[in-house]
Amino acid sequence: MSDQDWDVVIVGAGAGGLTLASYLGKSGVRVLVMDPRPEIEPLGRGELIQPLGLEILEELSLLEGLHGLPHCRNEGFQFLNGKSELLMRSRYSCLEGRFPFAISLEPHHLDQLMVNQLTNLSGVRVIFGARYHSHRTNETGVVVEWEESGVARTAFSRVLVGDDGRRSRVRSSGKFSGQVVTYNDSYLSWSFDIPPEGPDVLKGQEGQYFLSAGKIFFLFPVSPTRRFFLYMLKNRDRRFLNEKGLDGLLSELDGWVDGMSGVLRKGGLQDTAQIPEMVVMKVSLKNWVDGNVVLMGDAAHAMNPHVAQGRNQAMQDARVLAKLLCEGLALGSRGCSSALSEYERIRRPVTERLHGLADEMTLVWNSGNPLIVKVRERVFRGIGRKPSLERKIVRTISGLGFEPLTVLDRMNAFWSGG
Ligand SMILES: Cc1cc2nc3c(=O)[nH]c(=O)nc-3n(C[C@H](O)[C@H](O)[C@H](O)COP(=O)(O)OP(=O)(O)OC[C@H]3O[C@@H](n4cnc5c(N)ncnc54)[C@H](O)[C@@H]3O)c2cc1C
Repeated sequence: MSDQDWDVVIVGAGAGGLTLASYLGKSGVRVLVMDPRPEIEPLGRGELIQPLGLEILEELSLLEGLHGLPHCRNEGFQFLNGKSELLMRSRYSCLEGRFPFAISLEPHHLDQLMVNQLTNLSGVRVIFGARYHSHRTNETGVVVEWEESGVARTAFSRVLVGDDGRRSRVRSSGKFSGQVVTYNDSYLSWSFDIPPEGPDVLKGQEGQYFLSAGKIFFLFPVSPTRRFFLYMLKNRDRRFLNEKGLDGLLSELDGWVDGMSGVLRKGGLQDTAQIPEMVVMKVSLKNWVDGNVVLMGDAAHAMNPHVAQGRNQAMQDARVLAKLLCEGLALGSRGCSSALSEYERIRRPVTERLHGLADEMTLVWNSGNPLIVKVRERVFRGIGRKPSLERKIVRTISGLGFEPLTVLDRMNAFWSGG
């Protein structure tokens, strides 16, 4: 094989692409990964690696490396109301298995760890500063047009994988139909260090979700001394924020976490314009496979972060796809096609169920309707009093199962929460 010939070309060195390259490279498959960024860069927010993701990292012998990165072991979450009163806790300790916890961290640390591991695999090449442009298929595979540091390049691959995120160019170049929508509400995201004299309430290791009428504030540890938050921007209305100004925003945050404003100011926050806005999208497609071209991760199924699953599901796509592809590549062109169809058959229903759950959570959590807020708070309290219901929630969020609350469960929670 020449430098232009590959078994698999992966567009995008995100969570999914890097995981796929790791699995395939360890099995001796020749893989090219391309990404336009000059290198792995911080995203400006944290992420949760759920028990599902931890299982995958263990399979890839990355757990030890993960423990060496700045991170926090998350035993659970607290859900609080607008007065910072505890409504319920979701604790991973109710799970059986190897990982009764999640890990929260700034994801670029993990991505860099994965890239470092890939450099030891002789069949894998990861190229940064490399942008995919288009592709065309023929009887034996896919011709990929891309650009490396401004120079046009062509590669031939038996299979092309699009893991190029929610605005995927592979998706728009291929025959993929379905919906790509932006949710009404976005999030302001900020990461900051806690000074030693910072308030104790900020030093806890559990994630905190503060929910009040039309307001959401998530606060997570990403290392023992670093935190990040997401603050919901209702209807993506930045004008409202400008009117409120930094003082208004900080006094609201102080209302949830006393002493927050001092820490943020000390960390260099001087203007709301400094805080990046993260839009949230949903990608819901009718097909993930077009000939020998396949989509994965956010390109195939971006989902609302309320389910805290996007990265974990991209990694699970990679795990399933890698196993099927290794078998399929050995059987030739027909083998590849059936591997890709089987991958879509297994994975699409899982992500469709998560989309449904995320939409429901968005409706209930983001709501400013006083009646919905009242019912929500009562149901949360009820779940906190019923270990069987807490377990269902944690199993679903862990990525290890899908056990949404039934109508009976919800009624049970409502009556128990009074
Ligand atoms: C606010 C917020 C909070 C979140 N929190 C969590 C969480 O707690 N837990 C969790 O599991 N998930 C979370 N997610 C979701 C998670 O970030 C994504 O689902 C995950 O990053 C998807 O991985 P991916 O590999 O599919 O795509 P991405 O990580 O988006 O990677 C796509 C890659 O493709 C590259 N690319 C783009 N165009 C091209 C091109 N033309 N050529 C080559 N490469 C290209 C990009 O540079 C990028 O590196 C959150 C998302 C948001 C918005």
